[in-house]
Amino acid sequence: MAMNLKSKQGLNEYRQKLRLGLVESPKPLDPIEKSRKNPNSLRFAINARCFDCSGFERSDVTNCEMTDCFLYRHRPWQNKASA
Ligand code: SF4
Repeated sequence: MAMNLKSKQGLNEYRQKLRLGLVESPKPLDPIEKSRKNPNSLRFAINARCFDCSGFERSDVTNCEMTDCFLYRHRPWQNKASA
């Protein structure tokens, strides 16, 4: 989808303000915060559950070995090549 001229100007102004430090870039949300902001998203709910289960470590979700867990095949951040 092409951006119209007004949108491009607005984006460029925002980027300029970011560079000059006039606005702060938005803080990235962790998976639990994302799920709370999007309570109807099953994907975000699964991501949040695995993130919580693994002690807030994405790498532990990636390396999860609990193959009998119902979420195992759906867990985020897994290495698809080895799944
Ligand atoms: S798949 Fe692994 S990390 Fe996700 S909920 Fe199950 S045991 Fe926890």
